Amino acid sequence: MKQTETTSLVLLRHHLKHLRLPTIGAECEKVATRAAADNTDHLAYLLQLTELELLDREKRAAERRLKAARFPTIKTMDTFDFAARPSVNKVLVAELMRCEYIDSRENLLLVGNPGTGKSHLATALAAQACAKGYRVRFFRTTELITSLIEARDERNFLRLKTALAKLDLLVLDELGYVPASKVGAELLFDVISTAYERTSLIVTTNLPFESWTEVLGSERLTGATLDRLTHRCKIIETKGESYRLKDAQTRTRRATIKQPGQTLDGDPIST
Ligand code: ADP
Ligand code: MG
Repeated sequence: MKQTETTSLVLLRHHLKHLRLPTIGAECEKVATRAAADNTDHLAYLLQLTELELLDREKRAAERRLKAARFPTIKTMDTFDFAARPSVNKVLVAELMRCEYIDSRENLLLVGNPGTGKSHLATALAAQACAKGYRVRFFRTTELITSLIEARDERNFLRLKTALAKLDLLVLDELGYVPASKVGAELLFDVISTAYERTSLIVTTNLPFESWTEVLGSERLTGATLDRLTHRCKIIETKGESYRLKDAQTRTRRATIKQPGQTLDGDPIST
């Protein structure tokens, strides 16, 4: 490479860094060599580079959104076994994966016993929302209540509320595992009311509606919370036994099959 070319490249890299175009900086030489070999004109060369930058930028933004959502574990829809959970409507889930419910500010309620895939479905749907450009945050409900209580007397409260208000989708996982205190229930109600018709909510719970009063304390508050939550809301029931339990049983069964002298159920063969 000639001296002038090297100087130009150093300067170009500097300008691109200043303009925050890192992918163009990293790819320009390689694409230029290919463009020269293919006889590509200048405009097509520039187009290729800007396309690469845009693609990379979108990828980085999606990664940032995924990180900001703070999922405890990443779950995807393609690892969800629909055959094992027939009460979950696959067509409805496919529709939810298109994220139109977020545009129309609708909510989703996932109701079912522990281990039946509620958090898996909620996480997979919310991760899809991140990929599609929505701002998402996942909370265990008790964790959110604790954060709100702790932040209540400080400026952090406003900061937390502002952050929540900016979301497109808020996931409240495990509502009802632990009864909320009076203050906690009121703060949770405040979050749900503020989100009403502004931010979509995905709520997972093991509680049937009639038991919500036990968790939220007052009947008036429960009524008002359910009223907001279930207005324009889709409900998925994950009926049946725990997947973890079933999975563990299948694994035990597989292990015992290998043992000679036993039936498929693991019982010793009677002699
Ligand atoms: P819940 O939130 O209802 O208590 P989880 O979603 O945490 O249940 O599910 C428990 C475990 O079982 C998780 O590891 C989850 O990925 C897995 N699981 C549950 N249901 C299914 C399913 N239908 N297909 C695949 N994995 C499942
Ligand atoms: Mg769960």
